[in-house]
Amino acid sequence: MQDHRRLGRELGLFDTDPLIGAGLPYWLPDGAAVRHTLEEYIRTAERRAGYQHVYSPVLGKRELYEISGHWAHYCDDMFPPMDLGGEQVVLRPSLCPHHAVIYRSRSHSYRELPLRMAELGGMYRSELSGVLGGLTRVRSIQLNDAHIFCTLDQVAEEAHAALEMIRRAYEALGITPTRYRLSQPGPGGKYVAAPEKWQRSTALLIHVLESSGLPYEAAEGEAAFYGPKIDVQVTDGAGRESTLSTVQVDFHQPEQFDLHYIGADGAKHRPIMVHRSIIGSVERAVAHLIEQHQGAFPAWLAPTQLVILPISDAEIPNAASLARRCAGLGLRARIEGPDRGSLGARIRDALLVPYQAVIGAREAADGRVALRLRDGRRLDPLPVDDVLGRIGALVGAHSTELWGDDA
Ligand SMILES: [Zn+2]
Repeated sequence: MQDHRRLGRELGLFDTDPLIGAGLPYWLPDGAAVRHTLEEYIRTAERRAGYQHVYSPVLGKRELYEISGHWAHYCDDMFPPMDLGGEQVVLRPSLCPHHAVIYRSRSHSYRELPLRMAELGGMYRSELSGVLGGLTRVRSIQLNDAHIFCTLDQVAEEAHAALEMIRRAYEALGITPTRYRLSQPGPGGKYVAAPEKWQRSTALLIHVLESSGLPYEAAEGEAAFYGPKIDVQVTDGAGRESTLSTVQVDFHQPEQFDLHYIGADGAKHRPIMVHRSIIGSVERAVAHLIEQHQGAFPAWLAPTQLVILPISDAEIPNAASLARRCAGLGLRARIEGPDRGSLGARIRDALLVPYQAVIGAREAADGRVALRLRDGRRLDPLPVDDVLGRIGALVGAHSTELWGDDA
């Protein structure tokens, strides 16, 4: 099994340059196609689940993080502040403080809860250069994040729903979680001191895990500084385990930011924040997907979904017409013409592409293509409409199957 750094470079997905800096990878067109598709999947799933998307800046005043507690408990992982006209601003180490402020900017009734606020946003971590590498340890992170502002009674249902979104996403992505971890505080001053809140949050998460029937292990010293969390762990090719997805219960930041909603009784009440991430950081998720699939992504995620192979120059117009139809349907197709070598060589070069559509004189005359699937299957020539209909349906359903009847 090859690691994602080597594959990422070989497949032209991402790279780094010393002039940009360590831990600051850039995404090449094929990697950007995978990332964009993944981000769209997440946004769509969130919209369907009742989330509202926001945008917030990647910088904030130092004060913002003093209030949230990041400055006191998390500053080792933050970039040093920048002086700006007598103020200090910092690259944000998380999205929560911005979302808490956005929540606070409007008054909210209990009828609006649970209020689910989502953003795929940038954040920064001042990792030491010695530990940087590929997409797993980076200084610039795109986080799939959301905060659910809700009442105590609503926490369990929201956490359940988040775990279900994670389950569905893993199914579509072909990822198997290694284990679920209940991450609790450990010794040391990293954590906010509020024993009663820690107990309540932990009890809620245990309830969620147990009523979901998910086996889990408790781990000390892995909690966020403001509260315990459920971590969904995955393992890479070298056997290293890391956290991809999380669900957290937070009593701390709502209090720090003095958040409230107006209850049915007309009085102010404090909401709880549930932090949740379906795929964690986009960088780490793509790194894991590259290794898991060794570059052979599920068809809906593949940078090129269909490679079109005209046998001779005579079929190039048919190939171009098929490529235009694919583009119109939102499918990512490319033509590899006879100038790129023999048919056999072109097929070998496209081994990671889910679908290879060969067009010879007979297929061109009949409006058909001879389809080869990445798993080695060769189908009899099929009408172009049938092929595009079937591939479009599988891609639209985020299926991990190539032809819908995979064993
Ligand atoms: Zn958060």
